[in-house]
Amino acid sequence: MKRDVDGLTSFIPAAGIEELLQKKADPDTYLLRDIIAKSLDKHRLSPKETAALLNVHDPELKQQILEGAHTLKERIYGNRIVLFAPLYIGNKCVNDCAYCGFRVSNPECARSELETAQLVSEVIALEDKGHKRLILVYGEHPDYDAAYIARTVETVYQTKSGKGEIRRVNINAAPLDVEGFRIVKGCGIGTYQIFQETYHEPTYRRVHPRGPKSNFLWRLYGLDRAMQGGIDDLGIGALMGLYDWRFEVMGLLYHTIHLEDTFGVGPHTISFPRIEPAIGTDFAQYPPYAVSDDDFKQLVAIIRLAVPYTGMILTAREPIAIRNEVLRYGVSQIDAGSSIGVGDYAAKDDESVRKSQFVLGDTRTLDEVIYELVQGDYIPSFCTSCYRAGRTGEHFMEFAIPGFVKRFCTPNALLTFGEYLVDYASHRTYEAGMRMIERQIAAISDDGMRQAVSEKLALIQAGKRDFYF
Ligand code: SAM
Ligand code: SF4
Repeated sequence: MKRDVDGLTSFIPAAGIEELLQKKADPDTYLLRDIIAKSLDKHRLSPKETAALLNVHDPELKQQILEGAHTLKERIYGNRIVLFAPLYIGNKCVNDCAYCGFRVSNPECARSELETAQLVSEVIALEDKGHKRLILVYGEHPDYDAAYIARTVETVYQTKSGKGEIRRVNINAAPLDVEGFRIVKGCGIGTYQIFQETYHEPTYRRVHPRGPKSNFLWRLYGLDRAMQGGIDDLGIGALMGLYDWRFEVMGLLYHTIHLEDTFGVGPHTISFPRIEPAIGTDFAQYPPYAVSDDDFKQLVAIIRLAVPYTGMILTAREPIAIRNEVLRYGVSQIDAGSSIGVGDYAAKDDESVRKSQFVLGDTRTLDEVIYELVQGDYIPSFCTSCYRAGRTGEHFMEFAIPGFVKRFCTPNALLTFGEYLVDYASHRTYEAGMRMIERQIAAISDDGMRQAVSEKLALIQAGKRDFYF
């Protein structure tokens, strides 16, 4: 693959961002209120407004930001949380990312990838737990080209176990060329996710010293090529801890604006993982710009307010207490019951840590996570209906179309959650979950919809599957 970046220039105005962030004075209360009100009024914030939020240091004003994000989440999206699992396909990698356990120079990493039979076993293990949505994860290696990615996606969709099936496969892999994206699009993926890691170019160069990933512009324009290859469902992200998190939030915003200006569609999801320890990787133990828990909460709330119409993904990298808290501020998707060693779902062995990219903060099972979500009054959802009904940009529709959440998202969440409860839940989760579903159905204001959901739920209990609106 020729990585041609001739004629491209960075759309991240680094000096301008630094300048905005140097205005360290807190914005006054009125300005802050206006900015939050603009977001609640369903408008994306400008870089200047976002920088004003990032410059807040006063504890009371910080609390207002958290509350603003919470209000936005509740008012627009309600209390659904979509669940998925990561599935690591192969950890061979030609890059040398300073923070990653898979980097080529790490002798501690046990290299492997799933043979087709192993991939099938992994998918069956995930389906038998109740998963319906996966993200497939790959190192960057000539063996993992677009055709290989497409084959693995097809295998996942074809693999069924009992009543289980995977209904949406997302991808987290190296940026491809346009033709490569076209091939991957052809096998029916959901989101293609690429994290820029850091939008600060000098830092980017330092932590990606060699390999194809050292090409900042090739990566920065990766999702442009995805669009040109026909994929309009994109995930962006920054790895928090490489550089000042405030700069990264601005980078995510500028990336969003760039995609909107160029293609008329912004990213579907934003990810903001913090660096976790990884075997053989001192850098990850002591990240140069480690983000504190308090800053992390602020970061989540500010992203929610700045780009109010994107999905926000929070992974099991984070410890349970943080996960539970930041759900309030706008997170829409979490993974659960995750294993991040190649082959770990079907057969965990002594090598597991050496096959993993980093160490997870939340190791609860899917059933435990679901039980606790219900205790927190969140509706766990495995919904994939927009993707399957050809409605792309589901998150944007939830945001932009009045009544969309009531007509589609909540009913679909309840039906997919009902399937999970009937097929996979422990006794305590079943009992708590069914009580929640009954409460939620009773609260549906539209008579026709209330009846339709009740009828479909009865059919699910009688053994029928896969209903969606
Ligand atoms: N190899 C591809 C790439 O780098 O884009 C695809 C996926 S990589 C396996 C997934 C993501 O994991 C990376 O984009 C990076 O942000 C994140 N990651 C790497 N090392 C990490 C660490 N120590 N802690 C947390 N996240 C990490
Ligand atoms: Fe390879 Fe991705 Fe890890 Fe970098 S982050 S070493 S590209 S797997």
